[in-house]
Amino acid sequence: MKKYQISKPYLTDDDRKSVTAVLRTDFLSLGPKLNKFERIFAKKIGTKYACAVSSGTAGLHLTMISAGIGPGDEVITSPFSFVASANCILYVGARPVFVDIDSVTFNMDPSRIEEKITSKTKAILVVHIFGQSADMDPIIKIAKKHKLKIIEDACESMGAKYKGKNTGTFGESAVFAFYPNKQMTTGEGGMIVTDKPGLNKLFLSLRNQGRAENMQWLDHEHLGYNYRMDELSAALGISQLQKFDFMIKHRQKIASLYNKNLGLFSGLIDIPMVAKGNSHTWFVYVIRIKDKNTDRDEVISDLQRLGVSTKAYLPSIHLFSFYKQKFGFKDGDFPISENVSQFSLALPMYIGLKEEDVSYISNKVIKVLQKHAKRI
Ligand SMILES: *Cc1c(COP(=O)(O)O)cnc(C)c1O
Repeated sequence: MKKYQISKPYLTDDDRKSVTAVLRTDFLSLGPKLNKFERIFAKKIGTKYACAVSSGTAGLHLTMISAGIGPGDEVITSPFSFVASANCILYVGARPVFVDIDSVTFNMDPSRIEEKITSKTKAILVVHIFGQSADMDPIIKIAKKHKLKIIEDACESMGAKYKGKNTGTFGESAVFAFYPNKQMTTGEGGMIVTDKPGLNKLFLSLRNQGRAENMQWLDHEHLGYNYRMDELSAALGISQLQKFDFMIKHRQKIASLYNKNLGLFSGLIDIPMVAKGNSHTWFVYVIRIKDKNTDRDEVISDLQRLGVSTKAYLPSIHLFSFYKQKFGFKDGDFPISENVSQFSLALPMYIGLKEEDVSYISNKVIKVLQKHAKRI
């Protein structure tokens, strides 16, 4: 029986050579690979600066600090995201204020932002979910009107564009992530980008124990962290970046094959929609089950038995037990996000899936969904 995992990194001999070459040098941290990775990454995204860190979560934490967010402050964000995008707000003692999502793109619905703004609101933390940009024009307009900072969680959207502009170029800072399931990987790792020299300087210091920029051991200007990226990871990043455009084209090809196969079953599922003006880079390919009586988790088990791994993407952050306990969130607080959480299903998406694989997976998905829809 064929077996398909939900995601996997795309690693080549070039990647392996780049990483092992580092082991023949004396630089395993804070060396030339880090600088080069940052330089070419900034160029790729179109920002002035990039600062590599140990994870996307670490990067998000530093963007909260650099934005001056602290206890008593509120940050507006999306409940339909990976938990790190809300956790980073808690790390600095501030409060996440969730705004429900658009039912088609699953990104924060700009028309619901203003009602959530208070005198305590400091920033909007925009998440570009699944590889598609949020609707930035109205968000930027609202941020300007209320003098709020924009910070982007672009961890799922590397390479994605909004009206021709890269995600990661809209806020005062933005974060990308390189965990092995992302569009490119460094093992663990992340990158903070900005156009502001002062912010970049702060990121460089904060990731390295708050040390002065000239790396002298003696002075620590800030309360810093060890959020450094090592040279092996940076070398892998450089190598991955070299084939980034190819990898994105491949993901886009897989998505269009899924669209072709699954688009015929619009009575059964919604396929992902790409908003006008957006280019999607497919961190995941997520369908939505239409039949409200179908138990999505049973669908996942059935597909697993057939060798096809799928996943409930994503649970809503406000309904995690920690968030419920801390903030008193409950079912029904963000109904669109909750509805998407309940009926969404991520399908296998990785470089190496061929046309016949996508057909095979699509067939199994439809068969299982038809079986469940008939039950009622
Ligand atoms: C992956 C991801 C992150 C960061 O993940 P790390 O595992 O810390 O690199 C943050 N936000 C979102 C939306 C993500 O998908």
